Amino acid sequence: MKKRFVSSLLMLSILLSCLIFSSCERSKQKYSEYSFDYFDTVTTITGYATDREEFDAVAAEILTELGEYHRLFTIYHRFDGLENLCTVNELVDGAHRTVTVDRRIVDMLLYAKDMYEKTNGHVNIALGSVLSIWHDYREEGMNDPAAAKIPPMDKLTAAAAHTDIQNLVIDEEACTVTLTDPEMTLDVGAIAKGYAVEMVARTLEERGISGYVINVGGNVRTVGAKGDGTPWTVGVENPQEDAADPYFAYLYLQGESLVTSGSYQRYYVVAGKRYHHIIDPDTLMPEDLYLSVSVVCKSSADGDALSTALFCMSPEEGLALVESLPGVEAHWVLNDGTRVTSPGWSGYEQQGS
Ligand code: AMP
Ligand code: MG
Repeated sequence: MKKRFVSSLLMLSILLSCLIFSSCERSKQKYSEYSFDYFDTVTTITGYATDREEFDAVAAEILTELGEYHRLFTIYHRFDGLENLCTVNELVDGAHRTVTVDRRIVDMLLYAKDMYEKTNGHVNIALGSVLSIWHDYREEGMNDPAAAKIPPMDKLTAAAAHTDIQNLVIDEEACTVTLTDPEMTLDVGAIAKGYAVEMVARTLEERGISGYVINVGGNVRTVGAKGDGTPWTVGVENPQEDAADPYFAYLYLQGESLVTSGSYQRYYVVAGKRYHHIIDPDTLMPEDLYLSVSVVCKSSADGDALSTALFCMSPEEGLALVESLPGVEAHWVLNDGTRVTSPGWSGYEQQGS
């Protein structure tokens, strides 16, 4: 009798704790926070928390960590007392120094080298010398559209002689980085944002936090499901400006990332033709096949690196790469608006979207 009483008491307490837990879950509210301070773009944090205070504490931690990655990875700004990729790129007496850097820089550069191999060189952070020429011509062309020009090919070809990623020498133990070609520079624009978002998302996951979405300029990483346990709905941007719906499709995500590279994201116009910011390492010109390429996978670092690389590959080559990588799906929008998707993409897509 006593045994039965104890076991019913146990059942009751389990039931009660389940009820309390689910009502806590239900009482979570959705909050958002914005910042314009990192990676030259807007950061949006959305999350479910019991109250504003709880959300603000998590959002502040996310922004602090993102800020650290931003300062380490930027190639455009130096900060007093900090060796970052801007100082790695600098020349002193006509050569690059061997720079002792934060472990997070070493890890990201090793990751970028690995993605260079995996993508057959289509995403190459050692393209800095070529990309900076396009960057300068684009800035000048945007400031003075009537005088906009594209860079001369001989200038691009000369710069391309200094893009061999083997000349990025990393000593993992000593945590040092050296660019052994004095004319080589790094441009991590294709990878750093997604990598930083991934690292921040993993910090949350390690601490058991879920119910958050970190979106840094379209690099979207979901951390767990929504507060009520259902998946997040994340839109795939429609690259066609006159489209009635700003999103092409809506995906259900819980713990995965969605990253898009698009020719509409950054470009300038020369003689009526658009020149965007994703440069094919083979032709040294903006790749002219797609309006956008989106990648869904667990890691937003992979999503960022792969979406840029796929942008520079033919649909056939890209599809073969995607199919060789477990857990990676992709969505291409060709220049005429046609959509191509990898076989597993539809598993994420909301019906009728
Ligand atoms: P994303 O928007 O992630 O596709 O990255 C585009 C940015 O990456 C550009 O603004 C350049 O800074 C850089 N980039 C462009 N083409 C390449 C490439 N083929 N490999 C590596 N980085 C690139
Ligand atoms: Mg990218």
